Amino acid sequence: MIGIGYHDLKGRVVLATEAIPSGVVVCSSRIRGLAPERDMYSLQKEENVHLYIDEPGQIFSHSCDPNLTVRDNEYGAFDFVTVRPVQEGDELSFHYGMSEAESVAVAACCCGSAKCQGRSVGFRELTDEQQAELVRLGVSDFLRRWYEGTPRPVMAHGYQTYAAMQVQM
Ligand SMILES: [Zn+2]
Repeated sequence: MIGIGYHDLKGRVVLATEAIPSGVVVCSSRIRGLAPERDMYSLQKEENVHLYIDEPGQIFSHSCDPNLTVRDNEYGAFDFVTVRPVQEGDELSFHYGMSEAESVAVAACCCGSAKCQGRSVGFRELTDEQQAELVRLGVSDFLRRWYEGTPRPVMAHGYQTYAAMQVQM
């Protein structure tokens, strides 16, 4: 279903070796070790827990317009799941903001998407609109809990802005 390819700028990448529908787990990763802190290769599991996972999960590129999402799995790591149909030969990628609250992984993004944000941007660094879009596609349990527990001003409903202000006071 998937294989390893090589990209001039990104190095090793993961490619679809056949057409894959949306909603398919293409990789179920396992924990390879704990990272002392966030780095280019770690995936965030909790506020202060950063994992190294096995390959090919470790290799998935960042894209600002991803065809995969992450889903916490039974091994304490992540499954990677298609969020739209992909064609044979397509590069498989997820938005690093689906797992990372802040991202240090990609300083200059070359995803080529019209939505490109220029680098890999962590979830907490995204706009409300971008956060909502990633939540719709799927984010880690850790980020979903953070997202659902964080009051946000909603401009269309003034009282919610007021409620958010009161929480801060
Ligand atoms: Zn990009």
